[in-house]
Amino acid sequence: MNAAPLTDGFGRVFHYLRLSVEDACNFRCLYCLPNGFHRADELPPLTVDEIRRLTRAFAGMGLWKIRLTGGEPTVRADIAAIAEAVSRQPGVRKVSLSTNGYRLMELAAPLQRAGVTSVNVSVDSLDAERFKRITGHDKLAAVWAGIERCLELGLETKINAVLMKDLNGDELGKFFEVARRLPVSVRFIELMPTSDNSELFAKSHLSGNVVVERLQSEKWTEKPRMEGAGPARLFGSLESVGTIGVIAPYSKDFCASCNRLRVTSRGGLRLCLFAEADFSLRHLLQGDDQLPELQQTIRDLINKKEVSHYLPDGKIGNVKHFAMMGG
Ligand code: SAM
Ligand code: SF4
Repeated sequence: MNAAPLTDGFGRVFHYLRLSVEDACNFRCLYCLPNGFHRADELPPLTVDEIRRLTRAFAGMGLWKIRLTGGEPTVRADIAAIAEAVSRQPGVRKVSLSTNGYRLMELAAPLQRAGVTSVNVSVDSLDAERFKRITGHDKLAAVWAGIERCLELGLETKINAVLMKDLNGDELGKFFEVARRLPVSVRFIELMPTSDNSELFAKSHLSGNVVVERLQSEKWTEKPRMEGAGPARLFGSLESVGTIGVIAPYSKDFCASCNRLRVTSRGGLRLCLFAEADFSLRHLLQGDDQLPELQQTIRDLINKKEVSHYLPDGKIGNVKHFAMMGG
């Protein structure tokens, strides 16, 4: 094991890995895969064994929180086996899943048995027609049933909504009501630009400040930042069982609190969401005896991490869409 924490040249300590296990997705969200998914990479995604080795290496360097993401991770038939392999690695304390929720009803219990304790479900509109327009699927009721199943099972449940001026900007009140009534955290994510969504971005980007101002006017108060917390600002209110988060990548301190690394479904280390390239680790995932070399390679690469994503300067790296590396 290589136990020293993983730290970059700017003093940021990494304890959170977002691991994409599948870049394919059955939805075609307007901001992500507006033309549906088209396979660009003929290599198969990482196997369960490769994922196990990768997780072991990162967990051995202090990354204790692992999020399984995609594309749509539940497209994989072996998603529960993946979750189990990840959750069993020494040092892993929390395994969460990002999903569009279409299989959540059937998968919530098996995933919980496999060690998943927290689920983020994308719900960009609470109106069935709009949900269909945004995702291409008439699935709001099925996704919502999956969320209720997670709550019944006691899974920590977050609802992610990407803010879009014309598509859900008028639904803030309805989302606030969900957080008042249910023990969930509703997260508003500012729409981010990719090369596939430039038209939508120009038309629909809405600043997270709009949500913050409305929360403040409705007497929601900001919770103190926990040490090591990521870039979300969290709000609560006395009348609410749930909380509301705002993720605003254009805000000035966003990158200073960066505590995460990403690995693509083919084993590419991505040092930043908006990086220009990935660094393939797959050749170092072929045997258990490669662990020391794998960890040293990660440590060397981490020094290439830049201080900022430079989004306000119009840089989006090589990001075609977020399904390629998990958002
Ligand atoms: N398919 C799963 C889902 O939709 O939750 C997991 C993968 S998805 C890429 C992860 C998160 O990224 C989702 O919350 C999604 O809404 C968000 N996302 C995708 N494209 C985005 C964009 N251009 N700007 C902001 N968030 C985006
Ligand atoms: Fe699929 Fe998630 Fe992208 Fe929507 S946001 S197209 S569900 S990967």
